[in-house]
Formats: sequence, C-alpha cells, structure tokens
Amino acid sequence: MRVAVVGTGYVGLVVGACLAETGNDVVCADLDKEKIAGLKKGRIPIYEPGLEPLVVRNQREGRLTFTTDVGSAVESSEVVFVAVGTPPDEDGSADLQHVLDVAKAVGQHMNSPKVVITKSTVPVGTAQRVREEIAKYTDMQFYVCSNPEFLKEGAAVDDFMRPDRVVVGVDSDEAQEILSDLFAPFVRTGNPLIFMDIASAELTKYTANAMLAARISFMNQIAELCERVGADVAQVRKGIGSDSRIGKSFLFPGPGYGGSCFPKDVRALIRTAADCEVTLDLLLATEKVNQKQKKVLFEKLSGTLDGRIEDSRIAIWGLAFKAETDDMRESPSVSLISALVDAGARVIAHDPEAIRAARDIFGETIFYADHMYDALSETNALVVVTEWSEYRNPDFERMKSLMAEPLIVDGRNLYDPGKMRELGFEYHCLGRGNPV
Ligand code: NAD
Repeated sequence: MRVAVVGTGYVGLVVGACLAETGNDVVCADLDKEKIAGLKKGRIPIYEPGLEPLVVRNQREGRLTFTTDVGSAVESSEVVFVAVGTPPDEDGSADLQHVLDVAKAVGQHMNSPKVVITKSTVPVGTAQRVREEIAKYTDMQFYVCSNPEFLKEGAAVDDFMRPDRVVVGVDSDEAQEILSDLFAPFVRTGNPLIFMDIASAELTKYTANAMLAARISFMNQIAELCERVGADVAQVRKGIGSDSRIGKSFLFPGPGYGGSCFPKDVRALIRTAADCEVTLDLLLATEKVNQKQKKVLFEKLSGTLDGRIEDSRIAIWGLAFKAETDDMRESPSVSLISALVDAGARVIAHDPEAIRAARDIFGETIFYADHMYDALSETNALVVVTEWSEYRNPDFERMKSLMAEPLIVDGRNLYDPGKMRELGFEYHCLGRGNPV
C-alpha cells in the first residue's frame, strides 16, 4: 500500500519505519526541515532502540522516503496517517491545531479517494472535525478513521511490530477492509485487531493512559504510607502483583510520572469530561498526587542535608523521564533540578542518552558528565532519577571514594537498603520504611 505518515516524531517515525518493514511504500512528511534533512542522510533524531537499522534498511530498499512537502506526500498515497503532536492547551485540553493543519493539507491535495487515520492522541469528536476540515476543500470520497497508538517510548519498535492489540475506530466497511489488510502483519500471532466506533477508539487511548497514570499515583501514595508505618512497598507490590486481577505492571513507586503522554492525556481527559459536566474525581486526585510526587526527591534530599542544599554539589543519575529514551518532556528530573538550582546547589548530571535534550532545557546552568562516575566527584549526594540499566549494579566502593559524602537518594528503589547500610551509605529510597 502507498502510505503517508504526516508528523515524523517519536510516533510517526516508528509507524513509518514499521509499515515500510512490512512491505508498504511509505513517505514520512514533517515541517521540520532539519529533521527531514538528517533523516534523508540516515541520521535518527531520537534515541529509540532498534529504530535506526529499520529506518536505514527500508530507506536503502526504497520503501521509506522523507519529505517536507506534506501536499506531495498526501497526493502520492492511498492511506494518510496523522501523527503530529497534540500538546496541551492552556486549559489542559489537547491543542488540535497541528491535526487540523494536516486535515487542511489533505483536503487541498485530495487527488484520489483516501483513508485518513488519526494516530495522534485526540479527544472524542476529533475525527468529525478532521472530516469537516477536509470536506471544505474537496468533493472527492474519503474516509476518516481513528487508530490510537499504544507504543511505549523505549520499546516502541517492538510494541508496534508485536502489539498487545490494535484498536481502530471506523464507520465504513471500505475503510475497515483496507485497514484490516494494512494491520494484518502485526496481528498474525493472534493478538486482536479490534474494530469499534470512532468515539470509543478515541476514548480508549485516554482511558488506557489515565488508568496507568492512576496506578502509578496509587502506588506512590501507598509508598508514602509504607514509610510511615515501617512497611516495605517492594513486598507489598509483590504481594498484590501476584493477584491476576491486579497484575504486575505499573506498580513501582517512583519520582512521579512524566513524558509526553501521561501528564497531558490525564489533563485532557479531565478537560473533556468537564466540558460535558462530568467531574473525574479519581483523575483529579491522580494528577494532584503526581504534582506532589515530583517534589519528593527534593524534599528527601533537603531533609537529609538539613539546610545545606545551598552551595552543595549534587550528582543526578538519569534525566530522561524513563529508561531507554532521550525524551525529557515533563521528566521528574526537570522539577528536581530546577528546585536544586533555585536553592543554590551545583548540579552535575549524567544520562546515557538525554544530555542533548537536557542542554536545551538547562543550558549551562548545570554541569554534564560524560560518564556516570564523573558526575560523582566531590558531591554531597547522588540522586537516582531514571532507572537506566547501567545504574542498577554500580561499583559502590568507587562511588564512595569519589563522593564527598556517601549519601544516595534513590527515586527508583534500585538498591537494597540493608546492603547500602553495610556498605556505609546513607540511603533513602521510596516506601521502604525509611522516613526522613
Ligand atoms: P513529536 O513532538 O515527537 O512529533 C510530532 C511531529 O509532528 C514533529 O516532528 C513536528 O515537527 C511535526 N508536525 C507538527 N505539525 C505538523 C504539520 N502541520 N505537518 C507536518 N508535521 C508536523 O510527537 P510524538 O511524541 O510523536 O506524538 C505524536 C502524537 O502521538 C501525539 O498526539 C501523542 O500524544 C501521541 N502519542 C505519543 C506517544 C509517545 O510515546 N510519544 C505514544 C502514543 C501516542
């Protein structure tokens, strides 16, 4: 099939590369000239495991091309995916400007019947607005469908190639048939391809993210309680995760959820509901707990350093909002580092992939270490923010010899508190009976 993917970000590039990998002719279009120029030379603008070889191979085979000309991409395709950003508006709702810009371009370049698929996360009713926008510019037949994306950054290629399910909102048999063919290679092992009405598909995506965010906030509250009553959240997690009704995923406490999806999608769903006079109390609480959680590491640190934050040297391990990505959008590291800098601390940060993104945010207000141990020299404390594999089993003796004080605040519960005590560290983590 001839496919255009408009918007070549974390989602669009993965979608384009994976659709090319299954034999389609894919053109990825984006307004960002620098990004497209780089991609044409095989330079991948983001860190995403497994993506680079896929892009390079399919480009070499001629199945994957890149352009800044959205109109020509639309004209050359039967199927058009809209994968542009839907950032939060001031009132929390999703800003649909980019989506509607693409709809306009589709309408203006409609030279044959096409299936237009919103892949971006968009509120209920957006497919209808896309349809109306396209129809302003053409009388030709077209179908609008919703195909929310559930991939996780850090495992995006794998998630797209082997999805738990594919959800498609359709309102015509013709579109359903085309999309059944397009998605067939990804559901060969029997994972479901679920067709539903468009409004339900649009709402499914928000509901999934809101539920996962709620689980995280729930466990962060339980972790707080564990600290007060002397319980260990790791044990509680095992105890409940083995219940098949609950499941094991998304039960780890942490420094608050971040990234480009959960925070904005929770807010957008709250906003959608408010517009219909429904108050989503559970999600309002989820969001409130998360705001509070993003302050937890700073509070633990300042409680421990007891007024010595100013002029202290603090090492940060991990800047990305989670491991295996360079994405720093709404990362807990951003609120932590901002608070530390405001309080007069000197921050030395390490991250295997997110230093470039961090420089865009912090510039030269903090120091960047090329190597994880380089960040530790003469520091009064280390804060672990992201759960990168290389931080899981470090050389603790080396760490102690480098640091001015053997103090660790661990936002990911990577280490064993008993062992840390034996090694001579003052160790603070989340929900393991260690109130500060
Ligand atoms: P992104 O910011 O990484 O990429 C968006 C791209 O769209 C940018 O490259 C931008 O230049 C381009 N763009 C904007 N307006 C355009 C236009 N009019 N024409 C052509 N290109 C345009 O965003 P993302 O993280 O890939 O997210 C895209 C959508 O997918 C969002 O709605 C997001 O909520 C959703 N989503 C994201 C993830 C994720 O993990 N990142 C997962 C599932 C769904």
